[in-house]
This record gives sequence, C-alpha cells and structure tokens, in this order.
Amino acid sequence: MDATLPSNFIRNEIEADLAAGRYQTVVTRFPPEPNGYLHLGHAKSIILNFEMAKAFGGRCHLRFDDTNPEKESEAFARSIEEAVAWLGYDWGEHRYYASDTFETMYRCAEVLIERGLAYVDSQSAEAIRAQRGTLTEPGQESPFRNRPREESLALFRRMRAGEFPNGAHVVRAKIDMAHPNLNLRDPVIYRIRHVPHYRTGTAWCIYPTYTFAHPIEDAIEGVTHSLCTLEFEDQRPFYEWLLEALADAGLFSRPLPRQIEFARLNLEYTVLSKRKLIELVAQGVVTGWDDPRMPTLAGARRRGYCPEGFRLFVERTGIAKAESWIDYAVFEEAQRDALNEIAPRRIAILEPLELVLTNFPPEAVEWCVAPNHPQKPEWGTRPLPFTQRLWIERSDFMEVPVKGFKRLSPGAEVRLRYGFVIRCTGCEKDANGRVTRVFAEYYPDSKSGTPGADAYKPKGAIHWLCAKHAVAAEARLYDRLFTQPIPGAPGPDGTPRSFLDDLNPNALTTVTVFVEPQAAAAPPETRFQFERHGYFVTDRFDHRPDAPVFNRTVALKSGWKR
Ligand code: ATP
Ligand code: MG
Repeated sequence: MDATLPSNFIRNEIEADLAAGRYQTVVTRFPPEPNGYLHLGHAKSIILNFEMAKAFGGRCHLRFDDTNPEKESEAFARSIEEAVAWLGYDWGEHRYYASDTFETMYRCAEVLIERGLAYVDSQSAEAIRAQRGTLTEPGQESPFRNRPREESLALFRRMRAGEFPNGAHVVRAKIDMAHPNLNLRDPVIYRIRHVPHYRTGTAWCIYPTYTFAHPIEDAIEGVTHSLCTLEFEDQRPFYEWLLEALADAGLFSRPLPRQIEFARLNLEYTVLSKRKLIELVAQGVVTGWDDPRMPTLAGARRRGYCPEGFRLFVERTGIAKAESWIDYAVFEEAQRDALNEIAPRRIAILEPLELVLTNFPPEAVEWCVAPNHPQKPEWGTRPLPFTQRLWIERSDFMEVPVKGFKRLSPGAEVRLRYGFVIRCTGCEKDANGRVTRVFAEYYPDSKSGTPGADAYKPKGAIHWLCAKHAVAAEARLYDRLFTQPIPGAPGPDGTPRSFLDDLNPNALTTVTVFVEPQAAAAPPETRFQFERHGYFVTDRFDHRPDAPVFNRTVALKSGWKR
C-alpha cells in the first residue's frame, strides 16, 4: 500500500467493486471548469483522484468541464494544467474537453426525445421554477410535457439551428414531477445561449446543463469511479437514470460509471470559492491570482508550499462522508513537516543589529562549519566566515534583560551558533536611545567542534552572519489572509458581514534582511529553512541573484492562538 490515503471509504468501495468483478480497471477523473484558478480545495480532489487511480494501477483523466461558455477561457485551462502538474500528477494522453463532445451530447438528447424520455418545454424559466413544487408538495406537469415526440425533435433541431432567442425553449428529461427528489422532477438538460464558446466559437447556441453533461462525459471516457463532492449526492439518482437510459438505447455499454461523494475541504482562516477569490483579485486586495497570500495553487506554489505538504495534509485529514472545518494550523503543520524534509538550512538576519568583537583581529577570518540539515549528515556542511563585524538579530539583545532572557545583554555570555562563545561588554545608542551597535569579546578557545569548546556553558545560542559577506535581500513575510476562522461570519448580534471585513492587514510585511551568499545565489523557487525563523523560498518571478527576494512560506511556530 502506498503512503497517501492508505485507507478510506472510497478505497474500500473501489476494492469491493473490483472484488465483485463490477469493473476490471479503475479510471477516475479530475473535472475542473476552466473558469478560474484552482484553490486548496481542488488540491484535495486532485490528490484523491490521482492517488486512488495509482493505488489500483488505473489512470486518472484531466477533464475540462467547459459546458458554460460565459466565464471560461483557454488561459484558465492552462493555469489548471500547470497546477495539476506542479502537484506532481501526469494525465498522459488523457486530457479531455467536454466541449469536444457537444455533438455526442446533442445526439444523446435527441435519442432521449425519440424514446419519449425528454421533451421540449416552451415555458419561461420562471414558470418552470414555479411548477417545481417543494419537498412536501409535488410539482405540476408542464402543458408541453406530452407534446408529440416529433414536435419536440423538430423544435430541438431548430433550437440548434439558432432560430430562437435565449430562454424561448429548453429540453427537459421526462421523469416524474411528483418524485420526492426534486432533481428528478423533469430536470432541464439543454438550454439556448447565444454566447460564443472559447473553443467551439459560434458553432453552438445551445449548451447542455452540468447535470446532463457530467455523466455523459464520464461514460464517454470510460470512467469507473466518478468521485465528487457531497453537494452532488442528490444528483446521483439522475446520474444513474440518465446513463441507464442511454445504455438501454445502445449509446453506452455497461459497466457504467459510478458516482461516489466525499466531503469537500473547508479550511478556516481562508476562503475556498472561486467567486470570493475573483473578488479578492478584482478589488485589488492582492496583486493577482498567484499572489502568495491567495489560497490558489498558483499562490501556494509561489508562497513556497510544497506538493508533499499537500499530500501529507490530505493523508492526515482523510476522506470523509461528512462536512467539517479544518483549522489552517493543520495545513501549516503538514507543510512544515514536509518542508523539514526537503529544505536545507541557511541563516538569515531579519532585523539586523551590528555586533563588534573588540578583541578579534580586524582583518582575520575564522571559518566555521554549519550542517546543511541537522538530521541529514549526508547533505554535508558549508563554511561560514567569522569576522570582527557580524550581524545579529535585534531581538537577541536587551540592554536591560527581562527575567529569564538567555541571550545577549551586557555581561552575559552566549554561543554564536557554529562559532565562538562571546561575552557582551556594552552597546552604543543613537540620540533617540535606540541601540545601534553591540560590543563583545570572544573566547578564542571556544570554537564549536574544537576540543575545549564544551568547557563553555553559555545559557543561550544565537545566529549571526559575517557583515562583510552577508547579502542584503528583500524578505516578504506572509501571514494568513484572514483574521477570523470563518471570514465574513455574522457578528454575535447577527449583523451581516462580508469576508472582506475580516482581512488581515498584516498578511504581508516587506523587510530588508541579510542572508548567506549561497542562499542569495540560488535559482528561483529554491526552498530553505532560515534557522530559528521558518521556511522561505526564493520568489518564482521576482528573485534574482543580484536582487534576491525571499517569501516566507511558514514560520517555525505559529503565533496564532484559538
Ligand atoms: P468553487 O466551489 O470554488 O466554485 P467548483 O466546485 O465550482 O469550485 P470545479 O472546477 O467545478 O470548481 O471543481 C473541480 C473539482 O474539484 C470538482 O470535482 C469539485 O467537486 C472539486 N472541488 C472543488 N472544491 C473543492 C473542495 N473545497 N474540496 C474538495 N474538492 C473540491
Ligand atoms: Mg462547481
């Protein structure tokens, strides 16, 4: 058994289907509509579909569910491919577009009409809605429900030919207006829309509805297990009704695909809905779809989150049949654990303060050795130059230490990690009383890794960089985009609020920092752990070795309390 998703109810269902001989292979699909960028929720669906196929030696298709011409585009389709590939999945030759099958879908609707299983309804959308009934009351039959098949067929052909305006007619499946499941009360399967499609242009002015198209796409592609989110549970009876009807008509062969629902991912402190993401971009709250603050996969990639972290997250949170909300901290912890495995250690000083070692020869250099990963000796070490002038973190010095402070203050000793033990002798301040420089003396026989170094027992250790070698860089310190677990949830008195009211104003802070030269020279999208700070990545687009830019992916410890 592979590591990701070792057991869950979907895996059990598939195993049972194979054992019963219902299917010989496993074919799944990830079916995004190309009307926006993928978000963290989609990652769950991608991982589930591809991992299930892999676990059973089957395959997973990438299908563009592009039956809604209004908001779809080629650019969105490409961004989706990029995101799926980035997560580490390969659909091979199995990339499909629903729009390539419009002719087949049209034929399916014709066949239903020919067999008396669908009809053209010439009422308005409002009238149809008004006749739908409720959970407690049956619906009413349309006056067009029993119009002759030939008449419906002729009208359907004229709809296709463009003879009618939007809304003049629709095609409805003829099932049961009294059915307890409202989705079986003669659902609309085709409608007129005089809108050009990004792939088929003006070839069509009628388009299938999602509920009609989806099962047909699954059947055309030979999908065995159609995994979808819970909101489609009530559609399953229609899914089955439709495919059985088309199989009876000889259009598809059995075994037919089977729909199984799972709970969608709901993550606290973020929003996972294309509509809201579009608003964030349109209102200029973020710089674009790939802004590292965005919960899109393009944003996640640029932020430095890693595909393994997504898999770990999905594995830990599992696949469930009931909706739940997951704390963002769970996602961050999975990312930290995955990044820990892949990110070499480096040093960065985020808020630099100069440290001068008054007894160190001005021109001398002592080379210190730092491991690239504390738990992976095979990753080797790197040399760090130690000189008279160093950068330390401003927060590692207190002129008047608070109780329990174990780092630098006048008279105190600390170890400069991988280097020497020093004793602080004082500091210098500007006219405003702000510390501008710290002075210390080093102990020449205290170098880490040399005999005798252990004789020193300072209470604390701090990180540092040689001021001569360190490279200045821009660091973008990212934090959660929202301050509330459920952005836009109504106030305690029930006042309606918008998710935009809960934006975190500190989701991005930009600072100038110092980093090791090797970190600055790394290519874009290189991940590091900056010791004691967190995981960072060189920006995918803006980073250059002569103008380095680091994005903070996630801090080592969360500052967020529930
Ligand atoms: P949104 O709700 O953000 O508009 P969508 O469901 O319209 O997204 P699609 O392109 O239709 O987006 O989704 C493609 C696939 O991803 C579908 O199978 C859908 O069920 C799944 N999916 C979307 N959001 C989530 C989520 N939060 N958790 C798990 N799967 C999801
Ligand atoms: Mg959808």
